[in-house]
Amino acid sequence: MSGTVHIIGAGLAGLSAAVQLTALGRKVVVHEATAFAGGRCRSYHDASVGMTIDNGNHLLLSGNHAALDYLRSIGAEGRLVGPPSAEFNFADLASGERWTLRFNDGPIPFWVFDSARRVPGTRVLDYLPLARLLWAPAGKAVSEVIACQGILYQRLVEPLIVAALNIDAPDGSARLAGAIVRETLAVGGRACRPLIAREGLGTTLIEPALANLQARGAAVRMEHQLRSLRFDAGRIEALDFGAETIALGVDDAVILAVPPYTAASLVPGLGVPTEFRAIVNAHFRIDPPAAQPPILGVLNGTVQWLFAFPGRLSVTISAGDRLIDAPREQLARTIWSEVARLTGLPGELPPWQIVRERRATFAATPAQDAARPGAVTQWRNLVLAGDWTETGLPATIEGAIRSGNRAADTIAKQS
Ligand SMILES: Cc1cc2nc3c(=O)[nH]c(=O)nc-3n(C[C@H](O)[C@H](O)[C@H](O)COP(=O)(O)OP(=O)(O)OC[C@H]3O[C@@H](n4cnc5c(N)ncnc54)[C@H](O)[C@@H]3O)c2cc1C
Repeated sequence: MSGTVHIIGAGLAGLSAAVQLTALGRKVVVHEATAFAGGRCRSYHDASVGMTIDNGNHLLLSGNHAALDYLRSIGAEGRLVGPPSAEFNFADLASGERWTLRFNDGPIPFWVFDSARRVPGTRVLDYLPLARLLWAPAGKAVSEVIACQGILYQRLVEPLIVAALNIDAPDGSARLAGAIVRETLAVGGRACRPLIAREGLGTTLIEPALANLQARGAAVRMEHQLRSLRFDAGRIEALDFGAETIALGVDDAVILAVPPYTAASLVPGLGVPTEFRAIVNAHFRIDPPAAQPPILGVLNGTVQWLFAFPGRLSVTISAGDRLIDAPREQLARTIWSEVARLTGLPGELPPWQIVRERRATFAATPAQDAARPGAVTQWRNLVLAGDWTETGLPATIEGAIRSGNRAADTIAKQS
């Protein structure tokens, strides 16, 4: 096959598939329902804070190799910033303690043997049960594999799982938690350096991809929502966009890189994850104190992670479903009171914005993980992509990009 590849959805899964296919010289058209690319990973100008902000703070790790390869291929590898070594600052709002977790670079976890580097209050033996997650079978929840209690759990395992899986840690899929441990902690500090898009998700992950696609002759059609797929004899024969129908030639193919609920409405009989978890972000327009670390893990508060950007402090709360219907101003005040305690800034509320993504990710339970389909479908020119497809990872940028790469590979191999 060497016809046109139509990619539906300009989130990271769709964009990474497009970047990969155009690099192979394939003709690509991306169709995006909304007026912007990036999907759940985007920047926008916010009137309340009077600046461009991200829909949510996104943390990558230096072990996210597909994401880093993607950035290299769009010429944006320098736009993610992070410390030279794997360090994570934490603050406990209940006890007032602060500490820095310092992983050593290699796979032998010397940091566990060094009380100045490991989690305060823990012993070497506390870390052994973590290995059980590495070999956790599918179908088991975290609480069925490790004890969800104790200092190591509260200060490292729980924050890691809540952030990576976006779910209350005991309910999370042990297989997905194990994948995170395998690709980060088990590799060593060189895979655990925290990386953030300091200048914004748009200028880092999205706009360079669009420029790259344009330079390679791909078309990106915004506000072009796919309404239905037309099936015939084991293949997709046409794409229905309402006002326009695109008939597919025998060599044309489709990558469906839309959220699971949309994919299920377009593809008859497709099983997909159906439960979701929210992520809440609060953004405050204020200069962070000079000594504020770029990322601070927070325990025993509403705030889970505090990010410092130029002119802005920003908070992430994963598995935030309990906050979805909370009155906005009250929530902003609660969060700011914690931020003021953490930073020493005045208690008066600065200009703020709360962004609540109800369906931020699929719920990373064992049952929902088992409902994820692979890339290949029963229609020979239809391939699926998205963070919710079976990637072996939770719903993350890394997972979305790997799914896009896999969809592109699947189509390239059919040629
Ligand atoms: C607040 C928040 C914080 C997050 N934090 C992190 C983090 O710290 N680290 C991390 O790795 N991940 C994080 N994630 C997850 C990450 O954003 C996602 O995994 C990733 O962006 C998913 O990309 P995707 O392409 O699979 O899906 P999406 O981004 O959902 O893209 C799907 C696209 O399809 C389009 N579409 C839908 N229907 C149609 C149609 N009919 N026709 C055409 N187009 C259509 C949509 O408009 C959208 O642009 C976070 C997510 C959120 C919401």
